[in-house]
Amino acid sequence: MTISQNLQRIQQRVHNACQRARRDPAHVRLVAVSKTKPAAMIEAALQAGQTLFGESYAQEFSSKFDELSDKVEWHFIGALQSNKVKYLRGKVQLIHSVDRLSLAREIDRQWGKIDRVADILLQLNLGGEASKAGADEEELETLLRQVAELPNLRVRGLMALPPYLEDPEQVRPYFRRLRELATLLRERKIPNVALRELSMGMSHDFEVAIEEGATLIRVGSAIFGERY
Ligand SMILES: *Cc1c(COP(=O)(O)O)cnc(C)c1O
Repeated sequence: MTISQNLQRIQQRVHNACQRARRDPAHVRLVAVSKTKPAAMIEAALQAGQTLFGESYAQEFSSKFDELSDKVEWHFIGALQSNKVKYLRGKVQLIHSVDRLSLAREIDRQWGKIDRVADILLQLNLGGEASKAGADEEELETLLRQVAELPNLRVRGLMALPPYLEDPEQVRPYFRRLRELATLLRERKIPNVALRELSMGMSHDFEVAIEEGATLIRVGSAIFGERY
């Protein structure tokens, strides 16, 4: 299978999942997760019409950005240390992985330097897994209210990386929970917050995520092959 064929198959599956859920496929964007894969593979995906890519490591992102910058819309999806934020400044259009106030403050500060506003998602740790990043459900509203006060940030939605479970149906409750939380928080009408985006679903469970309302799916290995 070529990258182009993989993309076509995934688009077809996205389309089918949208039909099942009676959703408009235009409201589900595919983030092609290219971490650890060479720029040549991104080029191949670009040739096939894919223009949105997700990266997880700040330095790796920087070098790919220098090679491909103008043609690509970049999202940052990985765990992020505050001292790496400067490598992303002004170069990524959405950061999916904001899970603490100190990180949000640093993004705000860096984007402020270039007089721009950063779009971000708040990442949740829905499974309560010690090994995973993400804010706890109980601290989400407080975090959201604090982040909403930062002038150079705009909260666009929520992101989750649920536990890996063999059967995607078992992940469904986590996806559903993320959607419910977004609905609850929308009702709070916090100024400067528009929780339209739900970033959830990966190679093995994106169809279930779409059925539960995902607007951004992050798919890596199903496009580019396994990572080693
Ligand atoms: C690597 C990664 C993905 C993609 O995972 P696949 O299983 O390869 O589709 C999605 N989201 C995050 C946060 C990742 O780090």
